[in-house]
Amino acid sequence: MHILGGDVPAVTDGRTLGHEGVGIVEEVGTGVNNFKPGDKVLISCITSCGRCDYCKKAMYAHCEDGGWILGHLIDGTQAEFVRIPYADTSMYHIPPGSDEEALVMLSDILPTSFEIGVINGGVQPGDVVAIVGAGPVGMSALMTAQLYSPAEIIMIDLDNNRLEQSKKFGATKTLNSSEGNAVEQVMELTDGKGVDVAIEAVGFPVTFDICQQILKPGGRLANVGVHGKPVDLRLEQLWIRNVKITTGLVSTSMTPMLLKTVQSGKIKPKQLISHRFPLNQITQAYEVFRNAAKEKAMKVILYND
Ligand code: ZN
Repeated sequence: MHILGGDVPAVTDGRTLGHEGVGIVEEVGTGVNNFKPGDKVLISCITSCGRCDYCKKAMYAHCEDGGWILGHLIDGTQAEFVRIPYADTSMYHIPPGSDEEALVMLSDILPTSFEIGVINGGVQPGDVVAIVGAGPVGMSALMTAQLYSPAEIIMIDLDNNRLEQSKKFGATKTLNSSEGNAVEQVMELTDGKGVDVAIEAVGFPVTFDICQQILKPGGRLANVGVHGKPVDLRLEQLWIRNVKITTGLVSTSMTPMLLKTVQSGKIKPKQLISHRFPLNQITQAYEVFRNAAKEKAMKVILYND
């Protein structure tokens, strides 16, 4: 949706979109050693050469010959076939007996929300966490934040249906921000103290602003949202509060760990799937996601028969 909205100008017309998916290997190139035709694989949204300076630091997002290129700079996964460069270091074997649909959430949204939201935000046991945005990424942050046992997770969104759903995923409090007084409401919920961690999972100036205003001294603001416009940084209020603001593009270095937590049932990302469409109804699928609130859409699966 960010791409269709023009927030990612590097995507040229005619590009096949999509950077998530599971599939079966059809053919391998001569440089591929870890996979063979017939293997079931999870595709990472991040392509990694495994050799450059950034890859050696596990910052695969900034791989000099990869990073986020699928459905961005090269054709992506929303197609019958997709070519995955550097397959050995950019795909994962799907363990036998896995729920493959659930694993699609590991291509991007689970590692993104976990690495850029939960880990960057430094969620600790006993923390009060606020997550602004109860879409797929915000919900994934909600699920993965619980690995660190925070005391409270306050979910903030405009959509009551999503807020209701977030309670099932572990939100301890929910708050509708449509009145424009989200900051006051968070302060009320936290006895005027604010939160230890604010995770921004939308990407608008107004949602970033909520996050920067609800931080306790020593708080951390982890920005996950994709921003298309500048935001106002309230540095005149923040400088004295010992806060930390982080940003990032997912490196997917946590994907193997998250794969184990999904396999064991500790995290159940399948609950995020709200709709399924065959590939030949992709236009309808986009329509549903464009009207996510009305359609009660969360994560839409496209499948290829
Ligand atoms: Zn690299």
